[in-house]
Amino acid sequence: MAEDCLFCKIASKSIPADIIFEDDKVVAFKDIEPQAPVHILVIPKTHVPTINDLTDTSLAGHMVLTATKLASQLGINESGYRLVLNCNEEGGQTVFHIHLHILGGHQLTGMA
Ligand code: 5GP
Ligand code: ZN
Repeated sequence: MAEDCLFCKIASKSIPADIIFEDDKVVAFKDIEPQAPVHILVIPKTHVPTINDLTDTSLAGHMVLTATKLASQLGINESGYRLVLNCNEEGGQTVFHIHLHILGGHQLTGMA
């Protein structure tokens, strides 16, 4: 847990979020400003500032497989969805605790 990290605080429940899934490694919750009908963030419980700092392949795989399971539970696995990991300023990262965006529920357009 890092002091002053918003997502560490969500992971430890010291600030509230609409959590839809949790296990020993990750927490998934609804984005506060959804960019699509389905917009979920999957975060590790450990503090990893950017994906440049991510060295744990098992954690990376677990985040992706958690996202695909949630997409299936949310009924968007067949219609389609997008997984996004933003990194640093030009990547559009605003919260420096890694988070995998799950976006779906309508036709997504654009990439950059
Ligand atoms: P980034 O731009 O870093 O890839 O994404 C950060 C995401 O976190 C944004 O989509 C933003 O809406 C979301 N977010 C920021 N603060 C909060 C918060 O306090 N609660 C929740 N649930 N989402 C947040
Ligand atoms: Zn953190």
